[in-house]
Amino acid sequence: MKKTKIEWTESTWNPATGCSKISAGCKNCYAEKMAKRLQAMGIDKYSTGFQLAVHEDVLDEPYSWRTPRTVFVNSMSDLFHEKMPFDFILKVFKVMNETPRHTFQVLTKRADVLYEYNQHLTWTKNIWMGVTVESQAYVNRIDYLRSTGATVKFLSIEPLIDEIRYLDLEDIDWVIVGGESGPGARPMQEEWVLSIRNECITQNVPFFFKQWGGKNKKLTGRVLEGKIWNGMPQRIEY
Ligand code: SF4
Repeated sequence: MKKTKIEWTESTWNPATGCSKISAGCKNCYAEKMAKRLQAMGIDKYSTGFQLAVHEDVLDEPYSWRTPRTVFVNSMSDLFHEKMPFDFILKVFKVMNETPRHTFQVLTKRADVLYEYNQHLTWTKNIWMGVTVESQAYVNRIDYLRSTGATVKFLSIEPLIDEIRYLDLEDIDWVIVGGESGPGARPMQEEWVLSIRNECITQNVPFFFKQWGGKNKKLTGRVLEGKIWNGMPQRIEY
């Protein structure tokens, strides 16, 4: 487990690493850049760079964390990648099912694969399932998410690269919005963010504004209309 600077979680756990680009939001993938950097530094876990790899040796880590944690699962991969072995996904779920003191946040762009496996997964309440929606073109991922058995369902609208005009938030428990950051970051317009924020207010869904992004995200910060938006899903008794 590693502490993280990601604003909407506390720590990361990466039983798998590596991925491949699947949609427009992947263009400036942070995980890819980081994996290549760690490979260049000679870190064992990243010896194959950004190629998909599973790490059985870290599967058991959550059992050893005594204090309850909120954990972003596979921040350096996508658990529902087409090439992820199904039995490995089941192993990751088994660990999450058996450590209910922790809250696990799983995020995917492969909502169709998630949907396909859904019936075989055990959805204990400590597993929050999310899909990334970077523009209107990918809102169909939300329908797949809605069809799963996850108790808490969330959207990561990051990087928001285009306007989302129609956003149905029925059965969605949390929305995160953020702009792209780093070199080559695609700009995000304030009205796109406000439109989503307003939809969250109308549909009574917690709204978390992660960042404006841009070349230097520290400079642009995360204030929207004079305030910080740190909405989180209601805690559920596990
Ligand atoms: S799905 Fe996520 S981890 Fe995979 S390439 Fe796209 S942005 Fe990177």
